[in-house]
Amino acid sequence: MSDVLQRLQARTTVDPATGCWTWTGGTDRSGYGRLSIGGKMRATHRLAYAILGREDLDDALVLHHDCRNRRCWNPHHLEQVTSAQNTRLGDGPTARHARATHCPQRHPYTAENTRMARGRRHCRTCHRDRLRRNRARVSSCRTANARQ
Ligand SMILES: [Zn+2]
Ligand SMILES: [Zn+2]
Repeated sequence: MSDVLQRLQARTTVDPATGCWTWTGGTDRSGYGRLSIGGKMRATHRLAYAILGREDLDDALVLHHDCRNRRCWNPHHLEQVTSAQNTRLGDGPTARHARATHCPQRHPYTAENTRMARGRRHCRTCHRDRLRRNRARVSSCRTANARQ
């Protein structure tokens, strides 16, 4: 396996600020580093973890990048988690949404202020504001005497 490490190191830049070992070779469509081993494409961070990681690589688990750098294969930046945990830890829209405690307008996502729709949270205050704005726009289009 040491030749795998040499191949990894040959195409890696170390970022002194973050400590990331950033793979500069090919990546898959999701942006994870890829290396061909015996004709099979393997994820570079999984290869590195199998060699250098703190625990044995479990195929049922996914490797979460603490550094959010998908090309990074520094085992200190990797953590084995379930895929559900990874979604929550990651920075995709689902994860950002689950982490957020406030809507983009800074209204808190409290029980009273939150409406669930299609698995997402919606802010009731914003919803009311939108309705009010729409109503105001409609009424301003009418003549003033319509409102007394
Ligand atoms: Zn990293
Ligand atoms: Zn809001």
